[in-house]
Amino acid sequence: MTSQIVINNLHKHFGALEVLKGINLEIEKGQVVCVIGPSGSGKSTLLRCINRLEEPTHGDITVDDIMITDPKVDINKVRRHIGMVFQQFNLFPHLSVKENIMMAPLELKLKTKKEAEQKALELLERVGLAEKADARPRQLSGGQQQRVAIARALAMEPDIMLFDEPTSALDPEMVGEVLAVMKELAAMGMTMVVVTHEMGFARDVADRVIFMDEGIIMEEAPPAEMFANPKNPRTIEFLKKVL
Ligand code: ADP
Ligand code: MG
Repeated sequence: MTSQIVINNLHKHFGALEVLKGINLEIEKGQVVCVIGPSGSGKSTLLRCINRLEEPTHGDITVDDIMITDPKVDINKVRRHIGMVFQQFNLFPHLSVKENIMMAPLELKLKTKKEAEQKALELLERVGLAEKADARPRQLSGGQQQRVAIARALAMEPDIMLFDEPTSALDPEMVGEVLAVMKELAAMGMTMVVVTHEMGFARDVADRVIFMDEGIIMEEAPPAEMFANPKNPRTIEFLKKVL
């Protein structure tokens, strides 16, 4: 069986700047991989290459046996199966919470209005916000908005979820509620790649932790091993600062 995500010798340049310098990574279906590392090390760029929000300069990425870096691939079709959640929630302010969640499936004509609404309400229930269906995003706290953003991504029924520092913009008291939703998603078997500074989450939920520095995967290990016994001096230095 091949892995669900296979990244092979991925390089990314922005002009003269080489941000990813040969990333090799395989992620099995249902695995949760947390990506940690200093600011500017290429974590977001790596994540964005997985759904081609960034075009890789070199190397290839296969998702569900489709080589998504093939220029002939219908990338919009691929993206439907890959949900992404950002640090900023980016909800549409003029739409209700429910309408935000219904929007993509409706635009793509994947569901009828009734089906989309039913799914939205089901997802809101799942993220603990059933009573907020008709509220506007601005009436919600940051943690609630991020939970809506997760529900919105799930409305496309993705096979893979990418999270780019989903709790970094939140007040500390709201971090837990978002991590709890992500934890439940992981328990349900979602394949997840999570860029995070939440080492507790990585420790509890990740199957593997990846430490990136300067565009390279410096170290990769199960969380217990990575946190208790890091081997690379750069990992040791980084963990000293964040643990
Ligand atoms: P991280 O998420 O680990 O903080 P990023 O992947 O965002 O790192 O960025 C890695 C490097 O690439 C940084 O030096 C950043 O300034 C640069 N970079 C990211 N996106 C762009 C872009 N669109 N154009 C030019 N440089 C970029
Ligand atoms: Mg980043």
